[in-house]
Amino acid sequence: MAAFLALGGSAYSLVWLEQRQAAEPPASLRLWGERVPLVVVDAGHGGHDGGAVANGVVEKNLSLDIAKRLKRELEAAGVRVVMTRSGDRFLTLDERAALAGVHGAAAFVSVHLNTSGEGSEAEGIETYFSESKGLSARLMAVAGGGQERAEEGGAEFAATVQRLVCETTRAVSRGTKARDYAVVARAACPAVLVECGFITSERESVRLKQVSYRDQIADGIARGVVLFLQTQGGGPAVVAAVAK
Ligand SMILES: [Zn+2]
Repeated sequence: MAAFLALGGSAYSLVWLEQRQAAEPPASLRLWGERVPLVVVDAGHGGHDGGAVANGVVEKNLSLDIAKRLKRELEAAGVRVVMTRSGDRFLTLDERAALAGVHGAAAFVSVHLNTSGEGSEAEGIETYFSESKGLSARLMAVAGGGQERAEEGGAEFAATVQRLVCETTRAVSRGTKARDYAVVARAACPAVLVECGFITSERESVRLKQVSYRDQIADGIARGVVLFLQTQGGGPAVVAAVAK
């Protein structure tokens, strides 16, 4: 009798749940189907490593703030996110990069703030990828006679993120650059490092201190990540985000 009652209750609940889901499927199901991608988001520096300091800004604090906003934007798009750090904590570059492999990430995004010489008015956003990583992946693919997709996508990933984040923020675009930052080179998936602006620029540091501007940066990066994942061959894929 108790079992019958329980069954009746759950059957009713299921019907109700199905009706709700039919009306409003979750973002992950709409966008990604069964293969919800995972992105690693890395907030640069942390703990005893404060990163750069200028105009009253400490890089490790701002990178974490933007990384947290990026996490929320990606989750709103149905993407799963793992943060390398969610507090003021130090991790080595290898520890950060390793999380991409541990979680089978589809992408890795590292968030940093830029600096220039004293008195320099350099400003804008630039995105880094690892060229040698793509090369070694291609060589391995050729040697193994297999697909070369696995580690590719760094340059394309960087270009997509750079375009979307500059469109969204209207910041000066300094383009994409190939450089073997350890965290990008060692992450086992397409990986980029975004330098979100110059804290040494008086003008840009004022913008970076505004919550609304940091929201725009996070929104732009997230749009780039989602677009990149959606344009990967074979339909919905996976992603990660990090900081150098
Ligand atoms: Zn940095």
